[in-house]
Amino acid sequence: MSLFDSLVVATIPFVPRPFIRHFADPYIAGEELADAVRVVKLLNREGAKATVDVLGEAVTNLDEAARAADSYLPVLDAIERERLDANISIKPTQLGLALDYDACRENFLRVIERVRMYDSFLRIDMEDSPYTTLTLDLVQDLRREYGKIGAVLQAYMRRSMSDLRERIIPDKINLRLCKGIYIEPSEIAFRDFDVVRRNYVRLLRIALEAGVYVGIATHDELLVWEAFTLIDELGLDREQYEFQMLLGVRPDLRRQIISEGHRMRVYVPFGEDWYAYSARRLKENPKVAGYVLKDILGLRH
Ligand SMILES: Cc1cc2nc3c(=O)[nH]c(=O)nc-3n(C[C@H](O)[C@H](O)[C@H](O)COP(=O)(O)OP(=O)(O)OC[C@H]3O[C@@H](n4cnc5c(N)ncnc54)[C@H](O)[C@@H]3O)c2cc1C
Repeated sequence: MSLFDSLVVATIPFVPRPFIRHFADPYIAGEELADAVRVVKLLNREGAKATVDVLGEAVTNLDEAARAADSYLPVLDAIERERLDANISIKPTQLGLALDYDACRENFLRVIERVRMYDSFLRIDMEDSPYTTLTLDLVQDLRREYGKIGAVLQAYMRRSMSDLRERIIPDKINLRLCKGIYIEPSEIAFRDFDVVRRNYVRLLRIALEAGVYVGIATHDELLVWEAFTLIDELGLDREQYEFQMLLGVRPDLRRQIISEGHRMRVYVPFGEDWYAYSARRLKENPKVAGYVLKDILGLRH
């Protein structure tokens, strides 16, 4: 990251919320469930599946965590009612993982009851490193209650290879593989861009060779190309993996992948709690954040 980009990223917390909102618009469906339904319908028409996320993370008390769990129930109802090709993704701290494991588990079980009712699928997102072990525990624990629950591994984490071998492969857990978005210390995470890429490819190869269904979550064209190569080499059917992308990021690449006949799923966040998610997207893409800064400073024409 250049010095200017680092500076831009450092200023994000001081940027007025309306500016963040404006530039984050492409990354979120809107504030209401109806917005998510509309966007998922458009994606489905385009040939993409979706996974819906109700924005919010790291709640501060158990009432909030319970309310967050309840907010997924109408989403599941809408997916069923509107016959959307979509499932849901949930951040575990949103349902209270940072507060109380058992309460969080109970919250998930309430959501899972509805997921089961519709024979749907639930993905548990992976957050920052204090929660990695707990999140994988939770996935394994909940899968004893309902099988259609998937996990996420982050290629930047040094531990991901052993998590893949010890936790994911033995039970063939449906896996989303991503690079990882949080800032982690080098003792536990690779920091070099190319090492993360190489580790991604290595994890992907081992997972696919072991017969794990992988959600190949990336917008990095090199990784997409590596995935194509592996898919060919291993002679995989289209039903053995899918590509995954975030709403608003590289729609050109998304359409390209779909046009080549691969499954594609788009992560569709919606809700009132858009700030943290949007700020992370901007930090990831300082060029966009740079526009925000220039707008504020009146430098953009
Ligand atoms: C479906 C999905 C689910 C995810 N779930 C998780 C999760 O549970 N836990 C987690 O830690 N991370 C998650 N991530 C985020 C992921 O870890 C990466 O941080 C993110 O995908 C960027 O990495 P990349 O592989 O796309 O490569 P990058 O090299 O970061 O991006 C490749 C290219 O994509 C474009 N691009 C990337 N980001 C943006 C952006 N914000 N705006 C515009 N263009 C952009 C740029 O052109 C860039 O050159 C998820 C990502 C996806 C796609």
